[in-house]
Order: sequence, then structure tokens, then C-alpha cells
Amino acid sequence: MNDNLAKMREAAKRALESGDVGYVIGWGATKFPDKTSPLFMRKPEDAERLVWNEYAIPGIAKYLLDDLYPDKPIGVFVRGCDSRAINRMMKDNRIKRENLRLLGIPCDGKDDERCTICRNRNPLVYDELLWDEAPTPEPKDRYFRANAVEAMSADGRYAYWSEVFDQCIRCYACRNICPACNCKECYVDMTATGFQGKQHSRSDNLIFGVTRAFHVGDRCIECGECERVCPMGLPIMGQTQKILKDINELVGDYESGVDAESENYLGVFDLDDKDEFM
Ligand code: SF4
Ligand code: SF4
Repeated sequence: MNDNLAKMREAAKRALESGDVGYVIGWGATKFPDKTSPLFMRKPEDAERLVWNEYAIPGIAKYLLDDLYPDKPIGVFVRGCDSRAINRMMKDNRIKRENLRLLGIPCDGKDDERCTICRNRNPLVYDELLWDEAPTPEPKDRYFRANAVEAMSADGRYAYWSEVFDQCIRCYACRNICPACNCKECYVDMTATGFQGKQHSRSDNLIFGVTRAFHVGDRCIECGECERVCPMGLPIMGQTQKILKDINELVGDYESGVDAESENYLGVFDLDDKDEFM
């Protein structure tokens, strides 16, 4: 067992023994050696099942939405990406800081292409830090999906996204895992309104794709969870990367979820906004 895993198990055990938290969320083993899954530890001895290796990839913060009024604070291990997800959901008024006990764990980078664009390996919000912060390596191309699509012609982009969304089975896993996709009720489930048809057609699939992208929009924390869980392996980060790229080019350096206060650009307006398109 590595030193950091020992520290995590000790921290989870201590928190559960003290009774300060109702439970602690981390990562556990699965029957596949290269996969982990979220682990909910409720008794001190459950801490022995905690895993921390290169496959501890899943984002775990979204599960906080399943318990909005806990009797006791919920313990959560937070890497940089988990802390951005928590800031995002606090800024969106979906979770409350007083309900959380955040166990900060600087991340060493996981076995996932999406970790190559990480800009925050160290947690940005936490109650205690279990080991020293480490520098985040220079990220690779932040907009790696969007750049490839941008280089295409308009017809090429339409053909590209049509081909992508022709494969979408509308399972909504991408929506369910996304910390920025956190509405109490999603428009795709409002069947009576008819906003979104259930049939598998190119037009309905494209509408879902573009609506998901703009609903998440500038609130995307670039965690890559939507792509990780997509059973069809669709490169849908390209959509939110394009929105973030445009914002960064138009208004300067911007990242979602780095704190719980900053406004998100697409969520505010000002009477002095440029409106030459009107
Ligand atoms: S996870 Fe993939 S297949 Fe499922 S709705 Fe999202 S894009 Fe479509
Ligand atoms: S990368 Fe995907 S899952 Fe993560 S916040 Fe952005 S849209 Fe949501």
C-alpha cells in the first residue's frame, strides 16, 4: 500500500469514528483491474476498501446531489477536478459548503487522455490537505477536440456532428455524470412539453447534443466525465471546448469552478454589452 492511500484510509477512518460525518465518498475496486467505482464508506472498517491508483478516475462530487439534506456533513475526497465540480455546484446553489467535509488530495494524474489537459491537480477548496501540493505539469492542448473540428469547413462540421450524433443512443449518461448539468429537472425528461422527442432521429439527436452543450456552456469544468461515461465513445467534449475557447479568446483567461464566487460569462448580461448582432 502506498503512503498516500494509507493517509486516505486513516483520514476516512478518523472522520467516521469521530461521528463528524455521516459517510465518506471515495473510490473502491471493481472486478476489472483497470477500473474503480465510487465507494460510499459508512463504517470505520469500510475505509480498508478505499483504492487510490492510476485508475481512480471517476468524478465523485456529483453524488452529493443525491443527498441534499444530510443529517451530518458528507466527507468527500477532492482532487483539483472534484473541487472544481464542488465549486460549480455551490455557485449554482445546488449544494451547501456546511454540508461538506472536504479531504484534499493533490492528484498525480490518472491513466486517462483527459487528464493531459488538467490545469488544477491540487484541490482548490478543502478542509484538510492530506499531503503536500504538487506542481501541475504544463497541460497539453486544452482545446484538443474543438481545434480538430474548427479546422473543418462548415459542411464538414455538419457532416462530422451528424455522424457523431447518429450514434448517440440518448442514454443521457453524459448528462447524469456532469457536475455542471445539475438542474432539478432536465428538459429532456419533461415529456409532456415535447421539447425533446424520444425517437432516434438525426434531428432529435442533434438538438439534444447542441442543447446539452449550451446548457452546460461556460459552466463546464473540463473534467471529461461526459466522454468517459458515454457508452458510444462519442467525442462530445469538442462542443463545450469550443464554447470555452471562444470565451477565452473574447474575454480573457477563464476557467469554471476555480472558486464559488466568480460569475460565469454566459449567465450575466450588462446594458453595455456589445449588441452589433441585433
Ligand atoms: S452518453 Fe453518449 S450515447 Fe448517451 S446521451 Fe450522451 S452522447 Fe448520447
Ligand atoms: S467535461 Fe463534460 S462532464 Fe465535465 S463539466 Fe464539461 S460537459 Fe460536464
